[in-house]
Amino acid sequence: MTQLYAIYGASGCGRSLMPVARQQLARDNDPSEIVFIDDALTEISQINGHRAMNYATFLNESADFKAVQIAIANSRVREKIARRFEQDGIQLWSIQADNVVLMDQSKIAEGMALSPFVTITSNIQIGKCFHANLYSYVEHDCVLGDFVTFAPGVKCNGNIHIHD
Ligand code: UDP
Repeated sequence: MTQLYAIYGASGCGRSLMPVARQQLARDNDPSEIVFIDDALTEISQINGHRAMNYATFLNESADFKAVQIAIANSRVREKIARRFEQDGIQLWSIQADNVVLMDQSKIAEGMALSPFVTITSNIQIGKCFHANLYSYVEHDCVLGDFVTFAPGVKCNGNIHIHD
């Protein structure tokens, strides 16, 4: 079965998350290709050693399974793209760096991106397409909605609720 993975967005956020995506596949012993998707591209090109293309071209790529991490910091744009995936049958792809610390009984929905040095402690609930940038943490019993974005160094202490 051929699998194709993508990082959607080839600007700052996407180029920082591509190495995290490579770590994710290496951990899973998965040799599949990871490409960039960016709608500003008019033809297939190379960015940081990966093939890069627009979304229409990605949809035409042949693979049995496609999963995409939406690596765009703007949460409204992430939401818009995630809705398009529902229509197109594309899976949201969750990625996390090797040194992320995840403690007990925390649930994070699909499409998350946990950057290096992120800590998620215990009994936490987090919605779809969560982005936790470098050195962020979420402490015990927090509840976070869908499409929440943490900049680098966000410190979210215990029992905090954040809406979608
Ligand atoms: N982008 C896209 N499709 C969209 C919206 C944005 O491909 O519907 C791309 C856009 O071309 C740009 C990137 O996403 O390359 C967003 O980059 P930006 O520098 O604005 O934000 P960041 O990388 O910090 O999230």
